[in-house]
Amino acid sequence: MSATPAARRPLIAALTGAGISTDSGIPDYRGPNGLWRREPDAEKLVTYRYYVADEEIRRRAWVMRRDVGAAFAEPNPGHRALVELERAGVPLRVLTQNVDGLHQKAGLPDRKVFELHGTAQQVVCLGCGERGTMAAVLERVAAGEGDPPCRECGAVLKPATVMFGELLDPVVLDKAQAVAAACQVFLAIGSTLQVHPAAGLVDIAVAAGARLIVVNATETPYDHVAEEVIREPISASLPGLVRRILAGEFG
Ligand code: ZN
Repeated sequence: MSATPAARRPLIAALTGAGISTDSGIPDYRGPNGLWRREPDAEKLVTYRYYVADEEIRRRAWVMRRDVGAAFAEPNPGHRALVELERAGVPLRVLTQNVDGLHQKAGLPDRKVFELHGTAQQVVCLGCGERGTMAAVLERVAAGEGDPPCRECGAVLKPATVMFGELLDPVVLDKAQAVAAACQVFLAIGSTLQVHPAAGLVDIAVAAGARLIVVNATETPYDHVAEEVIREPISASLPGLVRRILAGEFG
């Protein structure tokens, strides 16, 4: 009896940045031309040392989070295309610069999403480490609490994101680097690839021989090493790219 080994399917790494979520109504605050770069005062709302030290900054930050509404945003066809890939049995890991949680909300399992900048769907207490949902804290803000404290210990609550002035989680970064080194296809989606750690992950993948596909509205420093560059809007182009992957075009 001869067994035919199942064809090994290529491991696909998808690095995602703000561009995949703009069609979900989430502005790119953090990018090179984002609000946080253009308005230093607004940047204080997401800068650790100001946030921790100044209650007024925290009050403004909670109002901003409530008004942006990212906690209640919905995934778009770009997020759903990656879910389709995963559900078809393709080994997929998503390395995301986004904090909106939309990959999981679209249906990807938590264990397949590495959130390089943490998540704004949760809050963490700076005193006791207790975690809770952003939605619950925003309800307290809507009910009139300007700077809701931790209900366990009374200390300051902050989103479970990596603020300016904070280090990336080394465990998450290690795992993301391992995926970049092991993948056969690296999709860089909606990221300008200009900042750490995004650029470094592309470097690792390319050095290890992965095929690079860039999907981004504007030029990136890696376009010249990419096998393919797709400039169309992400929520329009990603479903087509996923169909090509499922048809076996990339091995
Ligand atoms: Zn606490």
